[in-house]
This record gives sequence, C-alpha cells and structure tokens, in this order.
Amino acid sequence: MNISGSQAWHERAQRVIPGGVSSPVRAFKGVGGSPRYFVRGEGSQIWDVDGNQYVDLVGSWGPMILGHAHPQVVAKVTEAAALSASFGAPSPNEVLLAEEMVRRVSAVERVRFVSSGTEAVMTAIRLARAATGRNVIVKFAGCYHGHSDALLVQAGSGVVTLGLPNSPGVTPGQAQDTVVLPYNDFDALRDLFAHRGGEIAAVITEPAPANMGVVSPIIGFNGEISKLTKAAGALFILDEVMTGFRISSGGWWHAVQNPPQHILDEGFAPETWTPDLFTYGKVIGGGYPVAAVAGSAKIMDLLAPIGNVYQAGTLSGNPVATAAGLATLELCDANLYATLDTRAKQTGRVISEALTAEGVAHQLQTGGNLFSFFFTDKPVRNFADAQSQNVAAFNAFFHAMLENGVSLPPSAFEAWFVSGAITDADIEKIAAAAKLAAKVAAKVSA
Ligand SMILES: *Cc1c(COP(=O)(O)O)cnc(C)c1O
Repeated sequence: MNISGSQAWHERAQRVIPGGVSSPVRAFKGVGGSPRYFVRGEGSQIWDVDGNQYVDLVGSWGPMILGHAHPQVVAKVTEAAALSASFGAPSPNEVLLAEEMVRRVSAVERVRFVSSGTEAVMTAIRLARAATGRNVIVKFAGCYHGHSDALLVQAGSGVVTLGLPNSPGVTPGQAQDTVVLPYNDFDALRDLFAHRGGEIAAVITEPAPANMGVVSPIIGFNGEISKLTKAAGALFILDEVMTGFRISSGGWWHAVQNPPQHILDEGFAPETWTPDLFTYGKVIGGGYPVAAVAGSAKIMDLLAPIGNVYQAGTLSGNPVATAAGLATLELCDANLYATLDTRAKQTGRVISEALTAEGVAHQLQTGGNLFSFFFTDKPVRNFADAQSQNVAAFNAFFHAMLENGVSLPPSAFEAWFVSGAITDADIEKIAAAAKLAAKVAAKVSA
C-alpha cells in the first residue's frame, strides 16, 4: 500500500501542529507507524490522500453512525449553511434538536448545548458542585470524560486514594478534589461513601465504559452508584457522550429502562435507577461539534440566565451543527438500531473466528452495539485488567488490518464503531483481512 502522500502531509503537519495532530490518539503513537490523512468518505468507506480505500470502523469515534456523507444530512447542512453559519443568537434548529432529545429520553427535561463532550462534562461538574455546595468528584479509572482539569486524573492503583495529577498543568488543588476508584468495584465505592459521603458532589461514570476498550458494568453497578449518591445527597452524572443515541434510540439509560423482549426472556429485569444529569456528544452532532448537558428542570435551571451557575459559548447551538445533529437523529430509527446490532455482531464474529483459528488469545467484549477486542485470555472488568492485555499483538493486528483496507481505532484501549452503512461485502472484506491479520498477531503473541 502506497502511503507516501499521508507521510508527506504528516511531515508538513508536524512543522505547524504539535505532533502533527489536533487530538493525540490520531498520531498513531500507541500503535506505531504513520497516520493516514483522509480526504473523503461515503457510507462505510473512507479514502486517504493516496487513494487507498478502507472500511471505516472508527466512524470519527462514534458520530458517523449513519456512515459518511449521508445524502439527507448533507442536504440539511448545505441548506443551513447557505442561510448563515452562525448568528450568536437563538435559532430554531437548536430548539428542534433539544425537543428530539427530550422526546427520546424520559428523564431529560432541559438541554443546554455546547460544542464538545469535554465542555458538557465540565458544565455538569460545575452544576453538581453548585447544587450540592460540595467539591469532591468521583470517577472510575479507565473512564474518559474529556480533558478538563478535574477529570484528567487517574489512579495508578486500584485503591481508594486521592488522585494525583497525571498531566502536567493540572494543579494539585484540582487533583485533590477528584477521587479515582477502580471500575466495577462495589466495595471500594461503598467504602468511599461510608468515609467521605458528605464531601462528594457527584459520581460520574460512562454507563458502559468504552474508553478503555468496552467494559460493561457488572449487573447492579450503576444502580449502586445511584443508591449511594442519593443517600449521601450527591449527584449521579451519567456520561452518555459515547453511548447516547448509539446504543438505542435514547442511549444506554433508556435501553436498560426499557429492555427488549429477548433480554427480558433471559431473565433480566428492567433497571430502575435514574441519574441526575446526563452528558451527550458525538452522535447528536452527526460529525459536527455539538454536545450537551441535560437533565431535570430543577437542576438544569440552576444555569444562567435562570440560575447563577455561569456557562456560555459563542458557537453553542450553532444552526449548521444542530441541523446536522437533527438530520442524523431523524434517521436513527428502530431499523437503524437493529442494523447496528446485526453489523456489530457480524463484525465481532468474523474477527473472533479468525483469531481463534490462529490460536490468538482474545476477549470480544460488548456493550450493546459497541464492542472491542482485548488480546488476553481473561475477561476484562476494569482498567487494570485492560492494561494486562498483549498490546503488541493488538498493534500487529491493527496494522495488518489497515494494510488490508480496514481502519480500526489506532489503540488497544478503544471501542470499535459500526455504522448503518456497513454492507455484506464489507463484512466479507473484514473477514478476509482478519484472517491475514490474525496470522500476524499470532506471531507476536507466540
Ligand atoms: C468522547 C468522550 C468525551 C469527550 O468528548 P469530546 O467531544 O471529545 O470533548 C467525554 N466522555 C465520553 C464518555 C466520551 O466518549
């Protein structure tokens, strides 16, 4: 595969952009090699500057749920852009998008738009601190909630410790208000609430963590967070930036409240917990910069101009971006979710079969239609488990897939994303590439 064009762009990029990238994972540091520079996408396919074609299993990390350049989305965006890029004043599209979100998620009464998931979470944290008059935020190791100071803290060990900043530039003051716990650890959570419950403003979690690879909650874990926060007068922030409107028409929370019949038939009961605040992003912008904090009127109306919690944005609720989000959500119907489920299962199955045939140890982990492979023989329940996988085997697999025209997330610690545009031919191409890639991974894992 000729990638000289991408390599030339990457050299130029590094002269004017730190590391050549606008977001670190894109630089391929985790997997090695040179990132591809993309110029076009259509449906499930993307093309790099050298004309190489790939089946896209990144989907811009989630937003491209319909595939690339969906004609209906392009039409709405073009129409909106021709009317003006931005007013810095209210406009109808943001209202229509907020109404659609309120309609889909029963616990959401109010939505405030921002431009990135990072901002949405930052705002949720500010709201939680204002609502409770407390400082401490609890997060779980391996969950990603954007790059704001309070949340860029991870624990090096699974014990209940005060977080230490692991990025220079995060002050000790910021870090000491963030407690990091191991995911899926009921005892650590109960213990923390028993000792420090009165200091905690909020617990934030992904409903099914998908930023360390996919690690689903042990049944009851989200319910336990809800119970403990309620009893302590703290808030529960559910970060659905990745899962929102991807896992189901209303996201993860909606899905576990309203499980489909086949899940009920397996003996699972509907879950009954409700978070105090939600954060959304990715799918609600359809590839444009839209994110949101959402929740009950009681908490959300603490925001200015009704309340005194300040939050603002020059381009927030942008008419072109919200047109894209609305056009995308309008196409996210029952058929699309059924398609995503099927394509995720098919993709997982053909890759798993290829790895098994070559004797490569792996776990296929799923959270609805989100999934990822861990190159290990043990189930992964938390970040420490995730870190114990054979990253070199993943990296070899990744590059062989890319060489054979399948673009996976360039890191062993990320979810994989299908779109509604994946075809049977794509599944065959993925299967064929996986057979070759599994042989390469087998050499590394031996
Ligand atoms: C992507 C993501 C974010 C950050 O969103 P950005 O738009 O990249 O700032 C926050 N939380 C979760 C769960 C995410 O997946």
